[in-house]
Amino acid sequence: MPKVYFVIPCYNEEEVLPETIKRLNSKLCELIEQEKATDDSRMIFVDDGSRDKTWSIISAYSRENKYVGGVKLAHNRGHQNALLGGLMTAKEEGCDCVISLDADLQDDIGVIDQFIDKYMQGCEVVYGVRNSRKKDTFFKRSTAQGYYKFMKLLGVDIVYNHADYRLLGSKALDALSEYKEVNLFLRGIVPLIGYRTDYVYYERNERFAGESKYPLKKMLRFAVDGITSFSVKPLKIISNIGLVICALSVIGFIYALISLILGSAVAGWASTICSIWFLGGLQMLCIGIVGTYVGKIYSEVKARPRYRIEEKIIVKE
Ligand code: UDP
Ligand code: MG
Repeated sequence: MPKVYFVIPCYNEEEVLPETIKRLNSKLCELIEQEKATDDSRMIFVDDGSRDKTWSIISAYSRENKYVGGVKLAHNRGHQNALLGGLMTAKEEGCDCVISLDADLQDDIGVIDQFIDKYMQGCEVVYGVRNSRKKDTFFKRSTAQGYYKFMKLLGVDIVYNHADYRLLGSKALDALSEYKEVNLFLRGIVPLIGYRTDYVYYERNERFAGESKYPLKKMLRFAVDGITSFSVKPLKIISNIGLVICALSVIGFIYALISLILGSAVAGWASTICSIWFLGGLQMLCIGIVGTYVGKIYSEVKARPRYRIEEKIIVKE
């Protein structure tokens, strides 16, 4: 029987948290009764520096229920860092496997049994994959799916329609702890770990209550992080564009030279000004892309801590 940990990052989730705790608790108790999990299995709710009552809810429940554990981050570090904080805490607690899921009950907890069955069959990594995105808005669905395809095109190995609902065994957790990068994109890192892998399919629900904690701005930043942390193709594309433009300008130069010799050259104000604008813009774009990578190198080199735990409540037997 494995010691199973659930890790749930929470940011301003006071509206859903009581229901989430209730449902996950009954799921965990069911697993323990069915002898699919040991009695020292736990749920870890990671409070990602919430400004509402999230932490007081977590700590109140943890006083009454030994299965409820909590970790409070000192400030808001974002979903990925909060999740990592929870995963590493679970690892330190010596769990056999950990299942990460969102606090808003969008991930169907009914398939947790399947996760554990696959783990028992020897899988170290089990991905939860969405069957369809019927419940998402058209905008979210099309941008998300386009993004997955674009990532594939750039040579990044990510699992299509998989978010952060997954099981990791202790070996996979050990491996994950060796990835020290600051610009965290777990969906990109986990496939690099290797080991035996499987998939569990589920239907994604609507958010149980409250609003999405991923506004467009955060989503875009996350998307750019995913690309620039895992692919250097944009850099190659820049060099290729530069090369093509060089080639074209040589042709242009020959053309101009011929016109000059034939005496048909006109005062080319328009073309001059156009090329100045075009090249200026292009250069700025390229510098911008290069700058993004330089920025990443900067933050990786600083190697700042990715999260800091302020308080931890986990009841041992
Ligand atoms: N979350 C977090 N820190 C943040 C933003 C979000 O821990 O800064 C958590 C949030 O509480 C939820 C999960 O990440 O458990 C996913 O967020 P959400 O459901 O709002 O995203 P969506 O499903 O809309 O993409
Ligand atoms: Mg959600």
